[in-house]
Amino acid sequence: MKSEKVITVFDTHAHLDSEEFNEDRELLISRLLCEHEVAGRRVFVSGVLIPGTDLLSSYSCVEISLCSSNFYAAVGIHPNSDMGAIDSDWLKIEKLAERDEVVAIGETGLDRYRNITPMEQQVEVFCRHIDLSIRLCKPILIHCRDAWEDILPILRKSRGLTGVIHSFNGTSEQAREMIDRGFYISFAGQVTYLNEKFAELHEVVKTIPEDRLLIETDSPYLLPHPFRGKLKRNEPSYVIKVAERLSELRGESLEQISQSTTKNAQNLVKKL
Ligand SMILES: [Zn+2]
Repeated sequence: MKSEKVITVFDTHAHLDSEEFNEDRELLISRLLCEHEVAGRRVFVSGVLIPGTDLLSSYSCVEISLCSSNFYAAVGIHPNSDMGAIDSDWLKIEKLAERDEVVAIGETGLDRYRNITPMEQQVEVFCRHIDLSIRLCKPILIHCRDAWEDILPILRKSRGLTGVIHSFNGTSEQAREMIDRGFYISFAGQVTYLNEKFAELHEVVKTIPEDRLLIETDSPYLLPHPFRGKLKRNEPSYVIKVAERLSELRGESLEQISQSTTKNAQNLVKKL
């Protein structure tokens, strides 16, 4: 039998505004605010950071964050979002970002995998987020998919920028460079996958200093093993599976992982 001890976790990336939660969002939120069971383990979600993906999503994230002091909002335009109305939307994002409830800028970044928006425009919009993050002293939440060669030169020129590389899926050299730049490395469901494809990522997990480590679900996406293929969507408390996997890979106790990642997340979202 598993221990009855409650494990406290902080999910640093969950799209609670996403339509996958439309039918039962209130129920999910009330569940999230109490300790509950996930696959035989008692879990308490002490924090959820909710990143915006476009203007409407960013408004929703702020609204959801008002439900509880455990919820935090970020605002931004995802590189795969529709950038049709970018100029007028951006002015509103800038205004929204100034609000006290907004603790971070994003989700932003570059994506060559889906390549929906031309790279030039992705870069232009990403740079607006960088400037805003530096100007407001709020951390940036970066999505980087198959775009390290594009993103690193930009980050090298962005002095004073810090934040999170979310759903990290790069090499240990890339992780090291980001850590040296003051970033946190956040791991999602991929670390729980057992396929050979993720073997290198499992090695990267072992190299991250304890004070730079974060965990996330990227809900409703990236269901962790063993829920992948069995459940319809991911939820913030399933981040316990990412914590368990980090504990296994790093040879640290689950309590230690939950404590360090929660403390790091609290430092990240500290309101000014
Ligand atoms: Zn995301």
